[in-house]
Amino acid sequence: MRRTTASTCCYCGVGCGVLIEHDADTIHGVTGDPAHPANYGRLCSKGSTLHKTGDPAARALYPELRLGKGMARSRTDWDTAMQHAARVFGQTITDFGPDSVAFYISGQLLTEDYYAFNKLARAVVGTNNIDSNSRLCMSSAVVGYKQSLGADSPPCSYEDIEQSDCLLIIGSNMAYAHPVLFRRLEQAKSLDPAKRIIVVDPRRTATCELADVHLGIQPGTDVALLHGILNLLIQQDWIDETFIQTHTGGFDALQSLVGEYTPEHVAGICGIDPEALRQVAQMIGTAPSFLSLWCMGMNQSSAGSAKNSALINLHLATGKIGKPGSGPFSLTGQPNAMGGRETGSLSNLLPGHRDATNAKDRAEVADYWGIEALPDSPGLSAIELFEAVRRGKIKALWIACTNPAQSMPDQTLIREALALCPFVVVQEAFATTETCQFADLLLPASSWGEKNGTVTNSERRVSRVRSAIPAPGEARADWAIACDFAQRLEKQLKPDQPSVFGFHQPQTLFDEFRGLTAKRDLDYSGLSYQLLDALGPQQWPFLPGAERGTARLYADKLFPTIDGRARFIADTYKTVKEQQSTDYPLILNTGRLRDQWHGMSRTGTAAQLFGHVDQAQISLNPADIDRLELHDGQLVRVTSRRGKLVLPVVADEQLQAGQAYIPMHWGDRFLRGGGVNVLTQPAFDPMSGQPELKQAAIRIEPVSLP
Ligand code: SF4
Repeated sequence: MRRTTASTCCYCGVGCGVLIEHDADTIHGVTGDPAHPANYGRLCSKGSTLHKTGDPAARALYPELRLGKGMARSRTDWDTAMQHAARVFGQTITDFGPDSVAFYISGQLLTEDYYAFNKLARAVVGTNNIDSNSRLCMSSAVVGYKQSLGADSPPCSYEDIEQSDCLLIIGSNMAYAHPVLFRRLEQAKSLDPAKRIIVVDPRRTATCELADVHLGIQPGTDVALLHGILNLLIQQDWIDETFIQTHTGGFDALQSLVGEYTPEHVAGICGIDPEALRQVAQMIGTAPSFLSLWCMGMNQSSAGSAKNSALINLHLATGKIGKPGSGPFSLTGQPNAMGGRETGSLSNLLPGHRDATNAKDRAEVADYWGIEALPDSPGLSAIELFEAVRRGKIKALWIACTNPAQSMPDQTLIREALALCPFVVVQEAFATTETCQFADLLLPASSWGEKNGTVTNSERRVSRVRSAIPAPGEARADWAIACDFAQRLEKQLKPDQPSVFGFHQPQTLFDEFRGLTAKRDLDYSGLSYQLLDALGPQQWPFLPGAERGTARLYADKLFPTIDGRARFIADTYKTVKEQQSTDYPLILNTGRLRDQWHGMSRTGTAAQLFGHVDQAQISLNPADIDRLELHDGQLVRVTSRRGKLVLPVVADEQLQAGQAYIPMHWGDRFLRGGGVNVLTQPAFDPMSGQPELKQAAIRIEPVSLP
């Protein structure tokens, strides 16, 4: 008999509600949930084809184990698999210490999964070596919010998009990466053509179709641009002196720094017209409300934290924060990158927006968990973690629900690390990802439509994810795998101590976790599965006894810092890490396509989603194609300082001369020689650890066919 189950889309951070039509074991269709406040029934091409994606033949169906490198994996049972994993991890920890093992998890996981892995790493193993692919996605925004506003709490709501008079979209191709939000913006602009939209992006993307002004800056020059805008706001007296004096600190130092960023100086750095800069400053300075939206173009950068803070500076200087239609609003890439931040799933964080480096925070969590202490040695961020694997310092690695052998920069080094690691566990729904080939133990995980729990979207809204059908074969929920392993490891490492892992349902994980948010900036200790079922998705904070969540933060102008004031951050503009040269004269940019998701484990199996772009390709400005004596569709060799790739070239007038673009989605399964990350660089932001995935120097040569 057919039924309908309400759940949440598993792709981007918009977090659209979906209605799954299914019977006992098959999903037949997906429609948008009209009651969900993120999308009100809308879905994009990816969400509306969810039921057609994910090849059943590619699913991992039972555990597979190999007993030596070079040997084939063979089927085993769960008990043998988990005992083996616990024995290897336990022995490694006993012989080499807790920091000789690591966990690399994912923004695709549910909050309950994240929490289980965090508790496993910090409380059972005793290491902070747990990081997430959200490091590649949002860690610069985390630093930006924390250092400027005092907490990692994006203050805005989606309704601010409709309410704002002036929107700055910077480093985000919303039209492709957050399509349903972009549709909300399109509709709002059509109803109110006076709404001003500024897009800052080196490429003239589909998002620019809605722009009143597009600033096609040179890659990586955002900080100079934002300082230049602030300088003009100050000069024209478009700032809010009262707000600055009463609610912020550090303005004088910033004012003196940005004085150097004159329109002509900034125009020279960014490669734009100084008049366009003046026009943008006027739009922002004179608009009654001002909203900024950003994503990977700001975050995936060696200056990602500085870019985030420079943008937040504009809101603090104009007092346009905590009001309808105003505020800094980062868009999360993955469906539950926000849940990862809440549960402390970056190596430097702890659950409840706490810091692993803060002794008081560690003591609070240890006390709550009923253990003596949490580890105080610093954990490794993603790039450092794989480098430690390569150097032999990490001897057992657990990877869950992510594909670093396709998604991490500088693939040659990542694959070398995975091949050298003595014991690699991969917990995955699809056995065909590039990372699975490195698994000594492959554990089958359940996928979207089969899982229960919660996710938090970009606007801090917690939504239920519900299972419609059982997982195939012997696949298990991610939280259940983590908990089973934790209990076995506890018996090995702490046989005389009581277990701290008595979880038998995702709800028990959620209930324990929400207690850790009490009295914190993200307090959702008042939320429960029952309330979510009764009230629908809710935004945090959601305090005990509340009737609904909180749409907007900082309306009271009180910031979660020691003195209640926000901080202006005065970072100077720094150039990108990798410069062009005679040998590598072009700049490579990377990013998403409209109809594909990440490494295409799901979307790569739906023919319909290849109608937009059907193959991996490198785009160049037509002038560069002519100058290099190439032609559209010709195969070219793309070489960076780290690797090479062969692809067809296509002309794209939306790219500036001297710049190239390759989508991030294709890996080994689709493209011989690997995907774009054989070319990208491992340089990262020293504050956030986020790699500079969006910029590399390359050269292009024709490939001569035999
Ligand atoms: Fe899913 Fe994002 Fe599309 Fe919404 S916008 S349907 S969350 S991919």
